[in-house]
Amino acid sequence: MNIHEYQAKDLLAKFGIAVPTGYPAMSVEEAVEAAGKLPGPLYVVKAQIHAGGRGKGKFKELRPDAKGGVRLAKSVADVETDAKEMLGNTLVTVQTGEAGKQVNRLYVTDGVDIAHEYYLALLVDRASGRIAMVVSTEGGMSIEDVAHETPEKITTITIDPATGFMPHHGRSVAFALKLKGETAKDAQKLAKKLYEAFVALDCSMLEINPLVETTGGGLLVLDTKMSFDSNALFRHKDVEAMRDETEEDPMEIEASKYDLAYIKLDGDIGCMVNGAGLAMATMDIIKLNGAFPANFLDVGGGASKEKVSAAFKIILSDPAVKGILVNIFGGIMRCDTIAEGIVAAAKEVELDVPLVVRLEGTNVQQGKDILAHSGLAIIPADDLGDAARKIVSEVKQAA
Ligand code: ADP
Ligand code: MG
Repeated sequence: MNIHEYQAKDLLAKFGIAVPTGYPAMSVEEAVEAAGKLPGPLYVVKAQIHAGGRGKGKFKELRPDAKGGVRLAKSVADVETDAKEMLGNTLVTVQTGEAGKQVNRLYVTDGVDIAHEYYLALLVDRASGRIAMVVSTEGGMSIEDVAHETPEKITTITIDPATGFMPHHGRSVAFALKLKGETAKDAQKLAKKLYEAFVALDCSMLEINPLVETTGGGLLVLDTKMSFDSNALFRHKDVEAMRDETEEDPMEIEASKYDLAYIKLDGDIGCMVNGAGLAMATMDIIKLNGAFPANFLDVGGGASKEKVSAAFKIILSDPAVKGILVNIFGGIMRCDTIAEGIVAAAKEVELDVPLVVRLEGTNVQQGKDILAHSGLAIIPADDLGDAARKIVSEVKQAA
């Protein structure tokens, strides 16, 4: 799960991490009120969307030369003008895709005099099985270019979970950032606090870009992105309450209500499979046959008829889906339960795309009988290869 910048900064502040003062605003009036509480004379109005690259982003509805999603304002009146231009409009950044994201929230914050922009991120590094700190002296809006063109300017420091954060980790961070004196000490303390926050909050990613040294000295978190391990959210009700469903895929939200493992993808063949491994293999074999899956969906082991039916309806509600492949290997999951779920769903919503079903395992004959007598135009398949070939050719024919 992701949260907004202003929410992440609130969380970091609770761990004693320095962030500029700022207030969220849902309307132009709130933005003006927020600016009134800040000392000025420099304000920054920031679009709150779950995507980075806002500074260089463009609003669809505004002229191409209009300012982006992070705006310096020199007066409360300017804050008002910017808020009017941004709220309700669609911001397109390198991370939103072409469709962009509608800006429904703003963050009005103190303008900071920046001496230098650094990069500092924490993430769970699968290769080392540790939390890694990724740091660079070249922070700011072009970090992606730095990663491509001068990767040697990025340093990775991994932390052994058995020892936790040690003083030498802090020194390595300060050294990689080429900091000296008090600022180096500041960086060591900051790195330790960030690690503590990361572990305590069950984060999967915590990125600070930029981390700035101000002209007055001292380090400040100017922008941050935080993601959390969804499996650990049950023990962070305060974080869970920060969820902004308008930022999430509606089909993924619906799937999460039924505890279905569903991920929207770019292709046109909807998949319903039991077991994550089989779901991966199904996506692979669709690709092998020259098409692309529209989703990953694992209905799980002991799914009920209702759950299967919900899963089927979610797949069908995706306008990109041009055909569906159901691939079930019945173990704990019984084939007749799957068949009943499909028939129930198909009766409620119109099945207007080809459907290939491959059933194998527990109660396979009962399952096949239910489908055969359902009156639905179902194309049966013998094995996974056969199923994939059939659905791909059906979809190609229909196109
Ligand atoms: P994004 O990464 O989505 O583009 P940032 O918050 O990093 O958004 O803002 C982009 C740039 O705007 C920063 O690199 C920084 O130079 C500037 N900026 C952001 N917040 C402030 C602020 N509070 N004061 C001064 N400059 C800021
Ligand atoms: Mg940034």
